[in-house]
Amino acid sequence: MEYVIETENLTKQYGSITVVDNINLHVPKGKIYGLLGRNGAGKTTAMKMMLQLVYPTAGVIRLFGSNSKEYAQTAYKQIGSIIETPGFYDNLTGRENLQILAKLRGGLSASKIEQALEAVGLEHENHKIFSDYSLGMKQRLGIAAAIMHEPKLLILDEPINGLDPIGISEIRSFLSELSKKKGTTIFISSHVLSEIEQIADIIGVMHRGVLVEEVNMTELHKRNRKCIKFEVSDSKAAEKILLDSYGLTKYSRQEKSIMIFDFSIPVAEINKIFVKSGLSVTGIAISEENLEEYFSNLIGGGGIA
Ligand code: ATP
Repeated sequence: MEYVIETENLTKQYGSITVVDNINLHVPKGKIYGLLGRNGAGKTTAMKMMLQLVYPTAGVIRLFGSNSKEYAQTAYKQIGSIIETPGFYDNLTGRENLQILAKLRGGLSASKIEQALEAVGLEHENHKIFSDYSLGMKQRLGIAAAIMHEPKLLILDEPINGLDPIGISEIRSFLSELSKKKGTTIFISSHVLSEIEQIADIIGVMHRGVLVEEVNMTELHKRNRKCIKFEVSDSKAAEKILLDSYGLTKYSRQEKSIMIFDFSIPVAEINKIFVKSGLSVTGIAISEENLEEYFSNLIGGGGIA
């Protein structure tokens, strides 16, 4: 597999605090990689290190197959990025802002600027100045700035943060098309799984600086997450019973339910033992754990959003 971004034990410490902890990321060429994690998980710091905006404490970053330190100049010309809020001049239109950026980047033809504005649907905004843009328009202009030099890799830090559902869906379709039609590799972060679940080919989950999961979406959907879900009065007591009686390992517990991923123990038997132990069982169902629950369990409960 050819990786456009690959990290080896990438680590960042601020003083004694490790905010990115030995991560080994693999972003394949032409794919959309979603980096998920709660606020403060270390996503922005990881992205900043890839763009050399922050220097790693330890580890290696390979961009387009080469160690970034040696290959920096060539590699960075092929990258477009949005890290935190993109900076634009408030009193200029979107087009004027892009013209200035194009000059700063060594000159891009007017047609490239037009194509970028068209791609994000801002080509007809000829008079509105940036300060009068809606949040969605600001985000879209940020994307236009990131794509106007037709980069092979896009690094986007929470580009759909704060957008309304229509805005989210527009940006999603745009990024999917860019990846499919132009083969652009997209590395995108979010703290909301549902925002990127539909477009990502691969998902990496960060929690407290650690990459706790890196999984192909197809594989994730294929995984048998079918389970028996017991709704019970006391899920902690139910968990203890399952551990004591069967030494069960494949399960996950929510406040009022327990999901068992092991079909070898008959449902009736579990129900009997629960009831015998004084638990009230209010529901039993064969259910499929949704992805939100899966990731919530992965990062220790409480949900990713
Ligand atoms: P968010 O979605 O909130 O941006 P994130 O996953 O992108 O979260 P980071 O911004 O990478 O997380 O921050 C990870 C941790 O590193 C946080 O605890 C943050 O406070 C800390 N951090 C980031 N930059 C610095 C810095 N310059 N000095 C000290 N600590 C920092």
